[in-house]
Amino acid sequence: MKIVADTDRCVGAGQCVLTAPALFDQDDDGMVIVRVAAPEAGSVESARAAVHLCPAQALSCD
Ligand code: SF4
Repeated sequence: MKIVADTDRCVGAGQCVLTAPALFDQDDDGMVIVRVAAPEAGSVESARAAVHLCPAQALSCD
């Protein structure tokens, strides 16, 4: 799995950080930072949940 964040779409809602804090962070402006772009098997489910929950559809994964 590879996670991609589109910072042009991110609105800084922070839902991804709440859902998967090990995988995502936010910068001082609230913009998403992908901490782990290629999560291990144990984190794939939470990564998919974060992608699904992002209100701006700023996250994608394969
Ligand atoms: S949930 Fe989406 S909009 Fe909110 S910080 Fe994460 S990527 Fe950005």
